[in-house]
Amino acid sequence: MGVQKKVVLVGTGMVGMSFAYAALNQNLCDELVLIDINEKRVEGEVMDLNHGLAFSHSSMKIYKGKYSDCGDADVVLICAGVNQKVGESRLELLKRNYSVFSSIVPEVVQSGFDGIFVVATNPVDIMTRITYELSGFNAAKVIGTGTTLDTARLRYLMGEYFEVDSKNIHAYVIGEHGDSEFVPWSQALIAVKSVSKVLEDNPLAYDIEELEKIAGEVKGAAQKIIEAKGATYYGIGMAMVRVVRAILNNENSVLTVSVRLRGEYGGKKDVFIGNPCIINNGGAKRILELDLTDDELEKLDNCCSILNENFHNLMENQ
Ligand code: NAD
Repeated sequence: MGVQKKVVLVGTGMVGMSFAYAALNQNLCDELVLIDINEKRVEGEVMDLNHGLAFSHSSMKIYKGKYSDCGDADVVLICAGVNQKVGESRLELLKRNYSVFSSIVPEVVQSGFDGIFVVATNPVDIMTRITYELSGFNAAKVIGTGTTLDTARLRYLMGEYFEVDSKNIHAYVIGEHGDSEFVPWSQALIAVKSVSKVLEDNPLAYDIEELEKIAGEVKGAAQKIIEAKGATYYGIGMAMVRVVRAILNNENSVLTVSVRLRGEYGGKKDVFIGNPCIINNGGAKRILELDLTDDELEKLDNCCSILNENFHNLMENQ
């Protein structure tokens, strides 16, 4: 990793630009390169961000780039994609996003890029697996945003419920970033006390039904935001900054990114799911295998089956 921190963003739509705006305000890197198939849009976005530079604490170099600019980048972030058309199936959408990624990932690899891929395009677990397949990279160097945003939403809501700063809530949403995701409550802590013990000690104040409602709210959050304002982008943009910072600063931070399982949970392999993972400048340094209950393991099994089935369906239909 060079002294100058360089990030290439592919896809300058709402999510990409929310990332870029947050990155500028948080002075994330030294160089930020923007790429999109819509070149005119990139030109406008570059101008707009550069005009804000004077008001930031950053002297970031921001410019419109080409795939050849990825050669010396530390991170290539992909949030390019197409939207679901009315009446379009998930498989059709996946096929179109597969072809978008086929036009991006090989070009990035061709540049000599040797950093970390971070993927946010949905369905993120499958698009991350596709990036892994198309790039031929070591699995540690290909990660998706996974359930990082879901985990942040969970901590926020649990913080409100227990009236504890969400930073002291150690709970995770794991599995698919989507309908089958779940909260392994057996692994949740409030500061140093397990949530199960907190419930046991305070039966009148808290109960598991309320916590399940919170998990349901987390799962439905994106849909609710989409109904209200058309799309979600600020939260994911900031989650992306968080993941990229952990890489650039070699933090060894634990984040629930989408990673390729390597035999965890009773021999699960190949599938990419959101799971707590130590992230540093080598990417996904270590997957933290949780000590799940039988019921939680069944839920994880379900996530893996859904994601495997979608991926294999896509591959058979190419
Ligand atoms: P958007 O339509 O605003 O932007 C997509 C961008 O991709 C557009 O600028 C488009 O020109 C570009 N693009 C399309 N094909 C391309 C190609 N072949 N090469 C380069 N660029 C190309 O969409 P958005 O709202 O920014 O969402 C982007 C993705 O992020 C979607 O897949 C969305 O579902 C996903 N998303 C993920 C999360 C998460 O938690 N992971 C949250 C919100 C959104």
